[in-house]
Amino acid sequence: MSDALEQAARVLHGATSIVAVTGAGISVESNIPAFRGPKGLWTKYPPEEYATIEGFLEDLAKVWRLWYELGDLLADSAPNPAHYALAQLEQAGKLDAIITQNVDNLHQAAGNQHVIEYHGNGKRMVCLECGAQQPIPEGPDRPLPPRCVCGGLIKPDVVMFGELIPQDALTESEHLAIQCDVMLVVGTSAEVYPAAQVPHTAKYAGAYIIEVNPEHTAFTSTITDAFLQGPAGHMLPALLAQAGVTR
Ligand code: NAD
Ligand code: ZN
Repeated sequence: MSDALEQAARVLHGATSIVAVTGAGISVESNIPAFRGPKGLWTKYPPEEYATIEGFLEDLAKVWRLWYELGDLLADSAPNPAHYALAQLEQAGKLDAIITQNVDNLHQAAGNQHVIEYHGNGKRMVCLECGAQQPIPEGPDRPLPPRCVCGGLIKPDVVMFGELIPQDALTESEHLAIQCDVMLVVGTSAEVYPAAQVPHTAKYAGAYIIEVNPEHTAFTSTITDAFLQGPAGHMLPALLAQAGVTR
């Protein structure tokens, strides 16, 4: 076993307030591709066309077609052992919250109660006029684009480039980062701001940073205290077992 795993497990065992920050990497083993890299969605769908608010407003039907396709992908996906490990950590009374950049709803599906949706939820849509939220429709014959009963434009309830992070998610994340004694940073590239700021805030406030990722990131050599190199679906269950949270 690696020294990093042993040390991280010791710290986790003694911790009282743990907060997890998760990114697209934790869902890769649930067959949802990350955005960056050769298999990433951005290679197929240029972000300036599909993930900016300007691109969305320019061609509603085109962007909605992608979101319906993603919706089908999300409907077919299920939590993997990494999501379940975080659910067990919460059930054990050790995990205060998950701050997730993901929009796939898999932490909630795994049973986590306290999930902060930093970038929204890809199973929901919201009216830009009246603010009404509803589930994104599934199945055939979906309207392109969908319209609200009030006549307003409807957008997937996700944060696109050029939009602000929901204020309550920002405030609560900062509060959690300041008060936690361990932050678990799982499957995030450290390239998307302001989400990437959260682990920096925790570190600055004195937290021990455990990072889980098969690749090095901008966190690894700067703020990470224990780097668990490998897929989250393997590393998180191993960490919990070693820390005595699970057997
Ligand atoms: P990213 O795509 O920029 O980076 C993914 C990270 O995950 C990389 O560092 C990669 O090395 C790592 N990774 C790959 N496989 C892994 C595994 N098995 N276990 C652990 N880590 C693994 O993702 P990001 O930093 O989260 O930023 C992209 C933005 O797009 C975020 O807002 C993200 O939530 C969103 N997004 C969400 C989903 C989803 O909801 N599942 C999917 C794609 C992108
Ligand atoms: Zn409306």
